[in-house]
Amino acid sequence: MPKVLNILKCKCPNCKDGKMFYKTGNFLLLKAPKMNAFCKKCNFKFEKEPGFFFGSMFVSYALVAAEMIATAVLFRLILNFSYINVIIIAITIAILLSTFNFRSSRSIWIYMFYSED
Ligand SMILES: [Zn+2]
Repeated sequence: MPKVLNILKCKCPNCKDGKMFYKTGNFLLLKAPKMNAFCKKCNFKFEKEPGFFFGSMFVSYALVAAEMIATAVLFRLILNFSYINVIIIAITIAILLSTFNFRSSRSIWIYMFYSED
C-alpha cells in the first residue's frame, strides 16, 4: 500500500498492518483520539521517547494552516463569500477536522522519523 495511505490510515510504520490508534476520537462527543503504546501486530513502540510527539504539533499547525488557506481560496476567491463568512467557515472546518488533524499529524511525525533498517 502506498505510504500516503498508510499515513492517512494511521498504520504502524514498521509492519504497515497494526493500528496506531484504538479510538479515533470524536469532536462532537468531546472524545480525544487514544493511541496504542505498542503495535498489536509487531510490538513496535510508537512513542520512541518521552515527548516524542511534541513535534507533531508543528505538523498539525501546518495541516490546519493548509486547510484554512484552501477554505479561504475556495469560499472567498471562487465562491465569493464575504470575509466574515469565510472566517466562520474556516474556523468551523478547523474545529471539525481537529481529531483528524491530531491523528494524521502524529502519523506523519512518526513516519518522518522511521527508517526501514
Ligand atoms: Zn506494527
